[in-house]
Amino acid sequence: MSKSLLIVDDSATMRKIVMRTIRMSGLDFETTEEAGNGVEALEKLSAGPVDIMLCDVNMPEMSGTELVKEVRKLSDCENTKIIMVSTESSQELIDGVIADGANGFITKPFTPEKFQEKLSPFMN
Ligand SMILES: [Mg+2]
Repeated sequence: MSKSLLIVDDSATMRKIVMRTIRMSGLDFETTEEAGNGVEALEKLSAGPVDIMLCDVNMPEMSGTELVKEVRKLSDCENTKIIMVSTESSQELIDGVIADGANGFITKPFTPEKFQEKLSPFMN
Protein backbone atom coordinates (compact mmCIF):
# COMPACT_ATOMS: atom_id res chain seq x y z
CA MET A 1 0.00 0.00 0.00
CA SER A 2 1.27 3.46 -0.80
CA LYS A 3 2.36 5.41 2.24
CA SER A 4 3.09 9.04 2.94
CA LEU A 5 6.01 10.29 5.00
CA LEU A 6 6.70 13.58 6.76
CA ILE A 7 10.26 14.27 7.93
CA VAL A 8 10.45 16.92 10.65
CA ASP A 9 13.92 18.22 11.55
CA ASP A 10 15.35 21.72 11.85
CA SER A 11 18.50 20.66 9.98
CA ALA A 12 18.03 20.52 6.20
CA THR A 13 21.15 18.36 6.01
CA MET A 14 19.70 15.90 8.51
CA ARG A 15 16.43 15.77 6.56
CA LYS A 16 18.43 14.83 3.45
CA ILE A 17 20.38 12.18 5.38
CA VAL A 18 17.14 10.74 6.75
CA MET A 19 15.63 10.67 3.27
CA ARG A 20 18.69 8.96 1.80
CA THR A 21 18.73 6.42 4.63
CA ILE A 22 15.05 5.69 4.05
CA ARG A 23 15.79 5.06 0.37
CA MET A 24 18.70 2.75 1.30
CA SER A 25 16.45 0.88 3.74
CA GLY A 26 14.21 -0.23 0.87
CA LEU A 27 11.12 1.31 2.47
CA ASP A 28 8.91 2.70 -0.26
CA PHE A 29 6.92 5.90 0.26
CA GLU A 30 4.68 7.38 -2.38
CA THR A 31 5.04 10.89 -1.02
CA THR A 32 7.69 12.46 1.19
CA GLU A 33 7.37 15.91 2.69
CA GLU A 34 9.63 17.91 4.96
CA ALA A 35 9.13 20.41 7.77
CA GLY A 36 11.71 22.43 9.70
CA ASN A 37 9.95 22.49 13.07
CA GLY A 38 6.72 21.62 14.83
CA VAL A 39 4.83 24.67 13.59
CA GLU A 40 5.68 23.87 9.97
CA ALA A 41 4.75 20.23 10.53
CA LEU A 42 1.30 21.19 11.87
CA GLU A 43 0.80 23.43 8.82
CA LYS A 44 1.57 20.48 6.54
CA LEU A 45 -0.74 18.19 8.52
CA SER A 46 -3.58 20.70 8.33
CA ALA A 47 -3.69 19.90 4.60
CA GLY A 48 -4.17 16.21 5.39
CA PRO A 49 -2.73 13.46 7.59
CA VAL A 50 0.36 11.42 6.74
CA ASP A 51 0.94 7.74 7.49
CA ILE A 52 4.33 8.11 9.13
CA MET A 53 6.03 11.13 10.67
CA LEU A 54 9.74 11.03 11.55
CA CYS A 55 10.32 13.64 14.19
CA ASP A 56 13.45 15.29 15.59
CA VAL A 57 13.29 16.30 19.27
CA ASN A 58 15.31 19.51 19.51
CA MET A 59 13.92 22.15 17.17
CA PRO A 60 13.19 25.87 17.42
CA GLU A 61 9.60 27.25 17.41
CA MET A 62 8.12 23.94 18.51
CA SER A 63 10.07 20.93 19.72
CA GLY A 64 9.37 17.35 18.77
CA THR A 65 7.99 16.52 22.20
CA GLU A 66 5.50 19.40 21.96
CA LEU A 67 4.64 18.41 18.40
CA VAL A 68 3.71 14.87 19.46
CA LYS A 69 1.20 16.28 21.95
CA GLU A 70 -0.29 18.61 19.32
CA VAL A 71 -0.56 15.90 16.65
CA ARG A 72 -2.34 13.61 19.11
CA LYS A 73 -5.01 16.30 19.54
CA LEU A 74 -5.81 16.07 15.80
CA SER A 75 -8.55 13.52 15.19
CA ASP A 76 -7.65 13.02 11.53
CA CYS A 77 -4.07 12.14 12.52
CA GLU A 78 -5.09 9.40 14.95
CA ASN A 79 -3.61 6.75 12.63
CA THR A 80 -0.40 8.68 11.97
CA LYS A 81 2.59 6.77 13.32
CA ILE A 82 5.16 9.03 14.95
CA ILE A 83 8.75 7.85 15.18
CA MET A 84 11.15 10.12 17.04
CA VAL A 85 14.70 10.50 15.68
CA SER A 86 17.16 12.06 18.09
CA THR A 87 20.69 12.07 19.49
CA GLU A 88 19.09 12.34 22.90
CA SER A 89 18.24 8.91 24.17
CA SER A 90 17.58 9.15 27.90
CA GLN A 91 15.02 6.63 29.09
CA GLU A 92 13.09 9.49 30.68
CA LEU A 93 12.77 11.28 27.34
CA ILE A 94 11.80 8.09 25.49
CA ASP A 95 9.24 7.04 28.10
CA GLY A 96 7.74 10.54 28.21
CA VAL A 97 7.32 10.92 24.47
CA ILE A 98 5.92 7.38 24.08
CA ALA A 99 3.43 8.17 26.87
CA ASP A 100 2.47 11.32 24.92
CA GLY A 101 1.65 9.20 21.88
CA ALA A 102 4.82 8.57 19.86
CA ASN A 103 5.05 5.07 18.37
CA GLY A 104 8.81 4.57 18.37
CA PHE A 105 12.24 6.07 18.90
CA ILE A 106 15.35 5.91 16.69
CA THR A 107 18.63 7.27 18.05
CA LYS A 108 21.20 9.07 15.91
CA PRO A 109 23.45 7.92 14.37
CA PHE A 110 21.12 5.51 12.61
CA THR A 111 21.38 2.90 9.87
CA PRO A 112 19.09 1.81 7.02
CA GLU A 113 18.59 -1.43 8.97
CA LYS A 114 17.34 0.51 11.99
CA PHE A 115 14.79 2.37 9.87
CA GLN A 116 13.72 -0.93 8.30
CA GLU A 117 13.29 -2.47 11.76
CA LYS A 118 11.39 0.43 13.31
CA LEU A 119 9.20 1.42 10.35
CA SER A 120 8.32 -1.83 8.59
CA PRO A 121 5.67 -2.76 11.21
CA PHE A 122 3.79 0.35 10.09
CA MET A 123 4.13 -0.18 6.32
CA ASN A 124 1.25 -2.67 5.87
MG1 LIG B 1 17.32 19.38 15.81
